[in-house]
Amino acid sequence: MKNPRPVKQMPLRAILFDIGDTLWHARSAPPPSEFRRLAAERAAAALAELGVTHDDPATVARAAWTAMEEAMRHARATDLVEPDYGAVSQAALEELGLNLTRDQAARLLEATYISGIEGGKSPFDDAREVLLDLRRRGFLLGAVTNRAFGGERFRADLRDAGLDIGWDVEAVSVEIGYLKPHPAIFEFAMKRLNVEPAQTLMVGNSLAEDVAGAQQLGIAAAWRESAPDADGVVPEYTFGSLRELLAIPALQRAC
Ligand SMILES: [Mg+2]
Repeated sequence: MKNPRPVKQMPLRAILFDIGDTLWHARSAPPPSEFRRLAAERAAAALAELGVTHDDPATVARAAWTAMEEAMRHARATDLVEPDYGAVSQAALEELGLNLTRDQAARLLEATYISGIEGGKSPFDDAREVLLDLRRRGFLLGAVTNRAFGGERFRADLRDAGLDIGWDVEAVSVEIGYLKPHPAIFEFAMKRLNVEPAQTLMVGNSLAEDVAGAQQLGIAAAWRESAPDADGVVPEYTFGSLRELLAIPALQRAC
């Protein structure tokens, strides 16, 4: 583990974790053609359930999904406010001649989302054991994640991946309304945990979202080394596998 600058011993109480490419990753994702086939199948079922007909469910699925991705990209590049994906999907589907309510369009969009184990997500081998060890050491544990779908679906994906470790807080961007690195999502988590930035460590793989997002609030960050997505961001800790976190002096015991 490399510590690029001397770290002053911090009285840590809480550890916040990014999920994607930090705790799980797409190790065995189906090929894009299989994603498209499944999405078309789900879109057809969702349309039938809504009592709506369209002769090309694959196009319906693609239109909703593309619009969602574009809205997300735009938000990430601008104000970090989570778009209303139901409304985005509704507008895209209207262009295909489908007149759905916002909620119907949201349901259709979510139906085409191939997630979790089915989407090829696997937890890193040491993820569960490291989380449980940190819990035994007395730390409050939070998930702080950017995702367009939250709710029970996300919780079920966590369960299936063995990452349902009894989180003390789950801060999901689409539920809170802001994407990392917006301060609001970190502040939400800390408020729920009743901790200050100096008592908190953020763990993630994105320099731009996790490390810089945390540091702007005075939260220290541990970066899972990966292709850098920002320049000039220097994490307090850098690690290769989650297990290395257990050796950090400040993480031996919660204050
Ligand atoms: Mg990530």
